[in-house]
Amino acid sequence: MQLRLHDTLTRAPVDLSGDREVSLYVCGVTPYDTTHVGHARTYLVFDVLVRHLAARGRRVRYVQNITDVDESILARARRLGEPYTALRDRYTSIYLEDIATLGMVPADRFPRATSAIPEMQEVVRRLLASDHAYRRGGDVFFRTASVDYGKLSRLPRDEMLRIEAAQDDSTIGDERKEDPLDFMLWRAVRDDGPAWDSPWGPGRPGWHLECSTLALKHLGVTIDIHGGGADLVFPHHEAEVAQSEAVTGRVPFARCWMHVGIVTVNGDKMAKSAGNAVFVRELLPRHHPDALRLYLLSRHYRQPLDYDEADLHHWGDVRRRLAAAARVAVDAGDATSMPPEQQAFEAALDHDLDSPAAIRALTVLAGRLLEGGATYAERRALRTMAARLGLSLEPDRA
Ligand SMILES: [Zn+2]
Repeated sequence: MQLRLHDTLTRAPVDLSGDREVSLYVCGVTPYDTTHVGHARTYLVFDVLVRHLAARGRRVRYVQNITDVDESILARARRLGEPYTALRDRYTSIYLEDIATLGMVPADRFPRATSAIPEMQEVVRRLLASDHAYRRGGDVFFRTASVDYGKLSRLPRDEMLRIEAAQDDSTIGDERKEDPLDFMLWRAVRDDGPAWDSPWGPGRPGWHLECSTLALKHLGVTIDIHGGGADLVFPHHEAEVAQSEAVTGRVPFARCWMHVGIVTVNGDKMAKSAGNAVFVRELLPRHHPDALRLYLLSRHYRQPLDYDEADLHHWGDVRRRLAAAARVAVDAGDATSMPPEQQAFEAALDHDLDSPAAIRALTVLAGRLLEGGATYAERRALRTMAARLGLSLEPDRA
């Protein structure tokens, strides 16, 4: 069977069948607050992808960065009056605990941005040498006119300008730039925040540069799958494609761009800054981790999901039925056959990770098991399918 995923850049399916190792880079968190449902959805989708690839016999090299120096962490630390390193370390630990509680397979590496400052400076140096970048005082900007800027997002220019202007660290009004869309590779430090010496004076790396460099350092010049939330397509991933391909000369930077739809609340994007975030830590005392998984996987990953706790309760009931079905008494039957529901399940995940269809197959099989008279092979299939979705099938906790 063929494993196909939708590629944001070409707007077409990419065939990822084969037997070689798969490299996966997923943009990680900026650790200044706890994990909300939007983050959980994104990382759960990649968790299921990793499990599915592993079940197909593929080795996966999975890198997820931690953006541990960023204007948003520094602003928050200043507001709280605490060193940014303490804030960053605390929320990095909390994030890693949250994803463990949700039963996610950890990435092979969680490199911090600050672990690769010399490599980031090397990328900037090479971009300057090849005229893809230019200096303004101690700041270095990427020259977007030197590449096909916009090829990933395909947004009209006025839309790119509008989104860029809304970024926390926007430089859109900086008239020293050749083009308002040019973005910062290296930021001269003008405040009391952290800074690293560089050929351009003390400063900090730009956010986009951090991910391009960490991907290059840990996974090489071409990545199989580059993922993240759909809100990262522009400007973050657009900038990553531009600078990565400019520095390596290798196209494509990623064979497949995979973006997970955003989580909204009453139609507005869930975000810490919007004040409508629902945190995983608040939900888990009331809801089984399996219920949260089923709920977040019940919509196709490319669609947005409007958060509603009533839906989460519904998936709590489904979760109890699945746990009961995994424990029914069964007949020996034919131990080698694969039930049709499992075939449908595998086909669904192969088809652009269609988790809603996979969950439907799982619940149909659970219904059959609960009716009685099912076979050992059917119960085993249910457990295999549940494990692929990362469901523990643990009964209610006291
Ligand atoms: Zn990134």
